[in-house]
Amino acid sequence: MGLRLRITPSTLIDSTFPLPTPLELGSVSTVSLRYSIFLPYMDQVNSQRARIFGYSEIQMNLVNWYPFIAPFKDGDWVIREPWSHGEYLVYPIADFEVNVKFADPQTAPVIATSGFAEPNGEFTRYTLTAGRAFAISASRDFQVSTTQVGETTVYSYYFPIYKNAGDAAMLTSAQAIQVFSQMFGLYPHNTLSIVIADFQDSMEFSALYFHSRSFYNLYDGSPQSYLITVAAHETGHQWWFDQVANDQAQEPWLDESLTTYSEAIYYEAAHPDALAWWWTNRIDFFEPFGEIDIPVYEGQNADTYKYIVYFNGAHFMKDLRGRIGDEAFFAFLQDYYNQGRERIVSGDDFFRILDTHTDADYSDIVSEYFKNR
Ligand SMILES: [Zn+2]
Repeated sequence: MGLRLRITPSTLIDSTFPLPTPLELGSVSTVSLRYSIFLPYMDQVNSQRARIFGYSEIQMNLVNWYPFIAPFKDGDWVIREPWSHGEYLVYPIADFEVNVKFADPQTAPVIATSGFAEPNGEFTRYTLTAGRAFAISASRDFQVSTTQVGETTVYSYYFPIYKNAGDAAMLTSAQAIQVFSQMFGLYPHNTLSIVIADFQDSMEFSALYFHSRSFYNLYDGSPQSYLITVAAHETGHQWWFDQVANDQAQEPWLDESLTTYSEAIYYEAAHPDALAWWWTNRIDFFEPFGEIDIPVYEGQNADTYKYIVYFNGAHFMKDLRGRIGDEAFFAFLQDYYNQGRERIVSGDDFFRILDTHTDADYSDIVSEYFKNR
């Protein structure tokens, strides 16, 4: 069944298109959309948060650049209001095939994507299986380093003056893939691309993350560095965001607290001497506080939101692990990953699966960190 739709920019956000006939369970419908994108300038000065989508003097980034069908859960479409900080989109699991060609191949930039590249006639075809969000970044200034971890190729795209930091981010992600594959379950994709970002902040997408150039500027060669910390964080999102997805607007603690705590798991395995530095400088310096089960809309501002959801969330995970013990904690995380993969999980799933791995009473910890449990 084919369906042709006429859409305008005003219908692009949260639109409902009736199908000619209802779609039976397990059947397939093809929807074709033909559209052009007008890229905005990534204005970092006159905006509340990092501008990621668009172009700067040295980079073009395509994120959330195509329409997708919102997940349908518990009888409702999961569509959340945009917000100034934090993520709010909820993604279904999807397979992607993206074919790219440039009008003038002679002047084509270097491009980084979420997919595995192979030639396809005059195009390059990029495929990503069972992912959430397909991102593309292009620059004529990118240099690329690569390394191999098992079946996975890790790419690092950076501007030439940042070779040391670009390589360090790549090696961190390669190590983190090894650590997390062992502790949580196998890394799901055959590529991971780290892309230096011409904006503040780092940001995860499937098999690709943007890494703020401010971290490359500050990198001093030590693992006690935000370049390394945040590289481990964004790599962790491939487990807690890309594979095990959640409602990022309503329950952001699910992916962010676990991903932030995954940084600690990375340091424990890869740089145990730096773990104390991590707690002191990454977490406790900011005096984290608050009940972590807030929606993204209640964080007051970007910083406070982080102190609560990310940093106090890491304390929750630490306290929980301390109470139930390492064996139960990691058995739980592996099970949570297995059961949650390719799904959109909720806090109820988190605690339901947790309870199958421990008889310990952790109710006081839950009371301390949650207001709605
Ligand atoms: Zn994060």
